[in-house]
Amino acid sequence: MKKLMAANWKMYKLRGEAAATAAALVACLAGKLPADREVLVIPPFTALGGVGEALAGAHGFALGAQNFYPSPQGAFTGEIAPEMLTDAGCRYALAGHSERRHILGEDDAMVGRKTAFGLASGLSMILCVGEKVEERQAGQLEAVLARQLTAGLADVPADVTPEALAVAYEPVWAIGTGLTAGPEEIAGAHAVVRAFLVKRFGAVGSKIRILYGGSVKPGNAGQILGIDNVDGVLVGGASLDADSFAAIVAA
Ligand code: PEP
Repeated sequence: MKKLMAANWKMYKLRGEAAATAAALVACLAGKLPADREVLVIPPFTALGGVGEALAGAHGFALGAQNFYPSPQGAFTGEIAPEMLTDAGCRYALAGHSERRHILGEDDAMVGRKTAFGLASGLSMILCVGEKVEERQAGQLEAVLARQLTAGLADVPADVTPEALAVAYEPVWAIGTGLTAGPEEIAGAHAVVRAFLVKRFGAVGSKIRILYGGSVKPGNAGQILGIDNVDGVLVGGASLDADSFAAIVAA
């Protein structure tokens, strides 16, 4: 499996800037995208069209969505359905990002519904998990990851493919703070996630990609990507600039 290099643009960028950044990213990586890497751009909903056009035809690039509601359609004002995302060109979507869990109040059960429904709708899902600083300090890392993975993957079919499912380990205390988890912290948490995936999915669990997220930058990406069981990165702040994200992709 290629390493998955994901840019989460959160609630940043109007349509023009988003399309221009995506086009610049494609230009920066033209002829330089390592063969073992896949680039995923996850812009705000309003920019999906323009970013999709900028990525169209660029080999090794995919479009993703930050969120959706787990229903095919219906009276859910303000929400968006997975089929609307695939119709807009998305191949991937996130579920359980820490900002949705801790700012928007999404619980484990809703994250699980989204993961399963997104898969059933043809999206490849990236399930995000990670502990808060007080949970780590209280020695609860493994318990928190087990709880989030159990609920997040509860209704995922046993025959899921490694192309369709990835897990992003993102310690909450490292997201957007400039604090990066150290190599041992990353290796330890990824080993916990890997063991869970192998227990849950057997041999497929050893192929499901585990991304690291939390203040990844051009200067630390190479080291992080060299850690055992790190199969890609999920990048927020440092993905907003094309040169900076291209440097991470090529790290
Ligand atoms: C994220 O948005 O998932 C993230 C890890 O953000 P940042 O890279 O800014 O910490």
